[in-house]
Amino acid sequence: MREPGSSVAVRPRLTVVSGPSGVGKSSVVAEVVRRWPQLFVSVSVTTRVPRSEERPDEHYHYVDRATFARMIGRGEFLEYAEYAGNFYGTPLGPLREALSAGRPTLLEIEVQGARQVRAAMPDALLVMLVPPSWEVLHGRLFDRGTEDPAARECRLRVARAELDAVGEFDATVVNDDVRRAAQELINLMGGTGDRTPPARPL
Ligand code: 5GP
Repeated sequence: MREPGSSVAVRPRLTVVSGPSGVGKSSVVAEVVRRWPQLFVSVSVTTRVPRSEERPDEHYHYVDRATFARMIGRGEFLEYAEYAGNFYGTPLGPLREALSAGRPTLLEIEVQGARQVRAAMPDALLVMLVPPSWEVLHGRLFDRGTEDPAARECRLRVARAELDAVGEFDATVVNDDVRRAAQELINLMGGTGDRTPPARPL
């Protein structure tokens, strides 16, 4: 992306990371934040029940379906989607605040949401995180054991469709190693990473 008449690349301020369930998005994003604490990562709203290791308002804001529907009605989401039987959405307020404060921002969302962000904010950078192979993804979903077999099958079906959408994304990062993938993502976002946060990443 370039400014008219300029040869200097303009760094997008909003980055979307998508990728199939089990690909390791959360681990990669956690590593990115560890290296780049200034980055604002949006906390989504969901109707899914919390997993045992998840803490409310840190991993997600957990709400019931009626509340989610009210939030849609009030236009409180940048985007939202139904995924494997639950709703997920990006709240607009905190994101707007971060962007107007000039902070680089990151959304970790699925593909339908990424498409909505692209439509609403064409300058956003869309990155697809992919597994080294389909077998690796299958293995990771089994190993983490957070889904029952039916839910896992559902997520694997959705994962195939998500990987088919890779051509709609600006860049692809292979999660063969969390630290390597995190650094590649930071480079794409225009940060420098390297343990110490850059003084002026944007
Ligand atoms: P999980 O239930 O595994 O936490 O998330 C399921 C999927 O929903 C993942 O692909 C995750 O990235 C995505 N997701 C999380 N938050 C949002 C959101 O706010 N909007 C959309 N569209 N997808 C989300």
